[in-house]
Amino acid sequence: MHQPGLMMNRPLLISGVLSHGASQFAEQEIVSRETHGPLHRYTFGQMAQRAAQLAHALRGLGLRPGSMVGSIAWNNHRHLEAYYAVSGSGMVMHTCNPRLHPDQLAYIINHAEDEVVCFDATFAPLVRELAPRCPTVKAWICLTDAANQVAIEGGPGVLVYEDLIAPHSTEFDWPVLDETAGAALCYTSGTTGHPKGVLYSHRALVLNATTACLPAVLCLSPQEAVLPVVPMFHINGWCIPYAALISGAKLVLPGPKLDAPSLYGLMEAERVTVGGAVPTIWLGVAQHLEQLGAGLSSLKRICVGGTAMPEALIAKYQERYGVEVRHGWGMTETTAIATLSALGPQDLKRPPQERYALLAKQGKPLPGIEIQVVDERGHPLPKDGTSQGELMVRGAWIVERYYKADRSALVDGWFPTGDIATIDASGVLTIRDRVKDVIKSGGEWISSIDLESAAMAHPAVAMAAVIGIPHPKWDERPLLFIVRKPQHTLEKQEVLDFLHTRVAKWWVPDDVRFVDALPVGGTGKVQKNVLRQWYATGEPQAA
Ligand code: ADP
Repeated sequence: MHQPGLMMNRPLLISGVLSHGASQFAEQEIVSRETHGPLHRYTFGQMAQRAAQLAHALRGLGLRPGSMVGSIAWNNHRHLEAYYAVSGSGMVMHTCNPRLHPDQLAYIINHAEDEVVCFDATFAPLVRELAPRCPTVKAWICLTDAANQVAIEGGPGVLVYEDLIAPHSTEFDWPVLDETAGAALCYTSGTTGHPKGVLYSHRALVLNATTACLPAVLCLSPQEAVLPVVPMFHINGWCIPYAALISGAKLVLPGPKLDAPSLYGLMEAERVTVGGAVPTIWLGVAQHLEQLGAGLSSLKRICVGGTAMPEALIAKYQERYGVEVRHGWGMTETTAIATLSALGPQDLKRPPQERYALLAKQGKPLPGIEIQVVDERGHPLPKDGTSQGELMVRGAWIVERYYKADRSALVDGWFPTGDIATIDASGVLTIRDRVKDVIKSGGEWISSIDLESAAMAHPAVAMAAVIGIPHPKWDERPLLFIVRKPQHTLEKQEVLDFLHTRVAKWWVPDDVRFVDALPVGGTGKVQKNVLRQWYATGEPQAA
């Protein structure tokens, strides 16, 4: 029999994160881009007071612990207050991705049974469309003040956030909850079938957010200023909104302005040292800097994930801008970051190209997370860097069961990710594909991620994406879509010759299509289903 530990059993709660941030770093700044344009500036202490006011206001609307509160909002200070007020008072913060199809949004709001939905003025047309289809929602709150409020003609009555919270006390008696209680809810984007809800517990969020502060992860402290470009409406903004209060780091929220010039301006003006975003954002920022001939004067490191970060872009950030890239893997079902690239002491002695190649892999699991790859029968494969199979994950912040599902999502205690991966002897994960994107040619797998990364290394390529297309002899062959950089010429043969020097001969695509832009979905990923439609219909015409 084990000795029971004799420590206090105090729960890990979002309200604890709020109280800690507000008391230990009361004067630390939160800078937030308002939806109507200007920057808003206040402190952790003031944010906590307004979160308390919102918690009272939600109670006043009749909500109780366990109630669901939706949000359709940018990364801004009112959304942040909702994060803390809702979860802190025992309700569930259901962040909705505004870029989902309205049918899917109506589905998830109904499935979650949201009682209140907070939204930014940008999304007023969407709310007008959703309101008649969402009978459980008794109040729509516009995250704004009286001067900037929106009336939705022919739509639901709208409450104005500032008016709603103004009469209430700036103190709230945050309840002591069970740490396993649900705090936040996010749905997968459901490219196949209905979106599925992942209900994060307080414990999962606090553990992930605390881990995110570690030196080897985001390395947050009161000396840092962190910019989550990654949306708070998807995967908890990688838990950065919580990690800032845990670590005392200044928090900079970009609001709706996610274009490269705005982000660059914000990073420079607010002396941002750490950024988190998907690769397409960093690609845009790099292109903008090239056009300006400018550099980054405060940014020290960026955390990227959501899709693979091409090696060439990692090299560019390090060599040209002195910015370290940390490349991570995670999914809705893993709360936020689950693995992250890292260089060990031996790696620092390697030549730069080898280091960039290593950083382009998805790295090692964060503490508390375990990974393995399995074959089609579920048997674990060797960690040899070449045996590839489905990635399985388990740990303290991994989903066990989808919201309202009656069965566990696990297989032998592990969550099957739908990603195809290898793990090498030192534990480094490489994502090769998603199961549904895999290209099987002549019985062998071609990694679309590796091919895309190879194509992106060409100096005239802005973006690249690969899909598998049917082939009578080989079953499938890769087809490469390319967006050229502005003012660059590039022909098919040049691309193929370039790829011949970088990948196995049989991986080189049979054809290359040049297009003006790639279809990018709500979470910054290229929509390969749209590319398959383009292939099937011959659209769009080559650029
Ligand atoms: P969806 O893409 O369906 O919106 P998620 O946002 O949860 O859902 O995305 C999770 C998926 O994104 C992972 O399963 C994986 O396929 C992909 N992904 C995440 N990070 C990386 C990365 N660093 N490299 C390659 N793929 C990644």
